[in-house]
Amino acid sequence: MIHVEHHGPVIAIRMARGFLGRPIDWTTAYWVDGLLIDAGPPCTARQLLRVLNPLHIDSIVVTHAHEDHMGGLPALRARYPHVPIYASRRTVPLLREPSRLAIQLYRRLLWGRPKPVPDVISLDEVDEVLRTPSYCFRVVETPGHSRDHISLYEPTQRWIFSGDAFVGGPERHWPADSDLFAVLSSLRTLASLRPERLFPASGNVRRTPLPELHEKIGLLLQLTRAVARLDAAGMTVPEMVTALFNGESPLRWWTMGHLSAAHLIEACRSYNALMAQDDRPMASRERPRPFNTPSDSSDTSTNPSTDYGDIFRS
Ligand SMILES: [Zn+2]
Repeated sequence: MIHVEHHGPVIAIRMARGFLGRPIDWTTAYWVDGLLIDAGPPCTARQLLRVLNPLHIDSIVVTHAHEDHMGGLPALRARYPHVPIYASRRTVPLLREPSRLAIQLYRRLLWGRPKPVPDVISLDEVDEVLRTPSYCFRVVETPGHSRDHISLYEPTQRWIFSGDAFVGGPERHWPADSDLFAVLSSLRTLASLRPERLFPASGNVRRTPLPELHEKIGLLLQLTRAVARLDAAGMTVPEMVTALFNGESPLRWWTMGHLSAAHLIEACRSYNALMAQDDRPMASRERPRPFNTPSDSSDTSTNPSTDYGDIFRS
């Protein structure tokens, strides 16, 4: 399935595998001023080419090496043999050799299996800037969803093309390899750019992105604090899944455990452990306290249930 929406000069091309006439999950490529941002999955590549027929393509860039963002590249390369394809230096080797990606069965069924694209140019070679006749897109590193993830920022319009770096609403399940610290850092980076339009992979273009980015950061921090409280109370991860989410959702079973609430809670626990390391006052980090010196009452490093919210809230 493919849907096309116009947002001023930006064209959103939403793609999904259909089941009984309904989309299972959307992913979106964006066209603006001759630049194609992301390429959709293998299963909709031919439909994407049909949509692009009346448009000119000067360059292509992908935000990260997931099959629903780069799976259409081989078809695009065949249609546009001389158009440069760009990706981050971490993404390039994965596009050349997608067999290095761990793509679970449900993803192969949902999107298709990506094929290699040999001639991808690292964004390093263009100094992390992509220019079109009317716009200039700056590359912003936004790891977390994946280690190689980048977003694109257009400063004159205050646009951000965020790939999968921003997913709206509360989280319910995550893959095992997500990094909450990196996800939060990337969301803060995007918020610091004070965007006026945000174009995410879901295709739900945000017209008030700044409060939504802050809301998302707040929701994730709220969850880390809830996990910290339950951890301090001695709960196990399965008990926390029940307490916080009323059990795992069916997605846990459909993805054979790749996406789960337990992974999300583990990500919160890792984040809490990391931030507890950094939660001590600067003085106690810089000067080891002499042995037998009474501890400073403001030193919270020994308190595992410290509330991080006031310190890290954005
Ligand atoms: Zn992705």
